Amino acid sequence: MRFYSTNNKNHSVDLREAVIRGLAPDNGLYMPEQVPVLPDSFFKDLPGLSFKEIGYAVARSLVGEDLPGVQLQKTIEHTLAFDAPLVEVEPGIYSLELFHGPTLAFKDFGARFLASLLGYFAQEQNKAITILVATSGDTGSAVANAFLNVPGTRVVVLYPSGKVSEAQEKQFTTLGGNITALEVSGTFDDCQRLVKQAFVDQDLKKKLFLTSANSINIARLIPQSFYYFHAYAQLKNTGPVVFAVPSGNFGNLTAGLLAQRMGLPVMQFVTATNMNDVVPEFLNTGEFRPRPSVQTISNAMDVGNPSNFARMLDLFNHDVDTLSERIKGYAFSDNETRAAMKQVYAQRGYVTDPHGAVGYLGLKQFLKSNPDYTGVFLETAHPAKFQDVVENAIQTKVELPERLQAFMKGEKKSVLMNNGFGELKDLLLA
Ligand SMILES: *Cc1c(COP(=O)(O)O)cnc(C)c1O
Repeated sequence: MRFYSTNNKNHSVDLREAVIRGLAPDNGLYMPEQVPVLPDSFFKDLPGLSFKEIGYAVARSLVGEDLPGVQLQKTIEHTLAFDAPLVEVEPGIYSLELFHGPTLAFKDFGARFLASLLGYFAQEQNKAITILVATSGDTGSAVANAFLNVPGTRVVVLYPSGKVSEAQEKQFTTLGGNITALEVSGTFDDCQRLVKQAFVDQDLKKKLFLTSANSINIARLIPQSFYYFHAYAQLKNTGPVVFAVPSGNFGNLTAGLLAQRMGLPVMQFVTATNMNDVVPEFLNTGEFRPRPSVQTISNAMDVGNPSNFARMLDLFNHDVDTLSERIKGYAFSDNETRAAMKQVYAQRGYVTDPHGAVGYLGLKQFLKSNPDYTGVFLETAHPAKFQDVVENAIQTKVELPERLQAFMKGEKKSVLMNNGFGELKDLLLA
């Protein structure tokens, strides 16, 4: 499969280059040249297929012959090491739980697929890959856990000292092995600046094979399409199906659109945001006005200029009318989100996280005028990840899952450093 840049369809690269580069040289995002439709036999068998069988078939079709079958199988095993169960919350309304991975959010899927592919490409060229990430908390943990023990890779996480929560910090400072945590006396912006500086340093470029695990990487998008098929396979005797996707950078939604393009019979998508409503506004008015983000309780979606918007436009050949028909967009306030968490818990005994609650609200909004649909909302994080907000809303204690408790018992190991580039460079070359 070739992957072109959304800024120039004539610039295309193979999977290896798309994955190692992340972003195209012209700052476009990589897209597969064709999105193959899966055969009828696949859809006939779908209800009986395991998550891994689905993942293998979808990936095989998307990445073509760029990976040997044995490697793809290994990558799928690594990526889908945990399930994404569908839970009925109300008659006709299902929660697709994407938080059963090591860091309790859907980003584990993308990070693990990417880690496995980078590990494979590193092996091809006999030089270890160094993955540099700056984090304000969640990205560092997902990436570090995904790359843990992947041969040929080393992860260096830079984080601002004293500015991430203890739970987040423990998830990337207690791992050891090929994961190094650099505790920077400075801010998140300092960490990001240091990483950017490292990528343009000629000396480092010569001596190391540096790459990032950026969320716009096509390898993070591909595995996110697997769980739409898996969710559909778990539905029985349904009406037309609508997926509601709580969105920030719109990676999850774009992956759903890819699944639909591959033949999954999704009748409608709903995208739901918090007050950072650039895309719902665009879908309703045709005007795209990126702007600085505002802070909300669903903070993983506090995005003012969504990076995957370019991919959405590209998938629809910039046909805004069709795009607005296929995707309904709604935005909700923090108060509406809290009320939804409270109501779903009180009436159904189900605990949602603030992001999932936004998805739920979007779904309900759509179902008001389309009651014959069967709805699935994506529950993107475990409620315990947002313990304070959730406990406040539902007035009940939320248990920390065992794997988070296990992290909390681990011993923190970090390397302290100042916010100067010289020190980072010495550490990387040591
Ligand atoms: C990243 C994130 C989102 C937003 O997903 P996008 O693919 O960027 O739209 C939603 N919920 C949670 C919990 C997240 O971590």
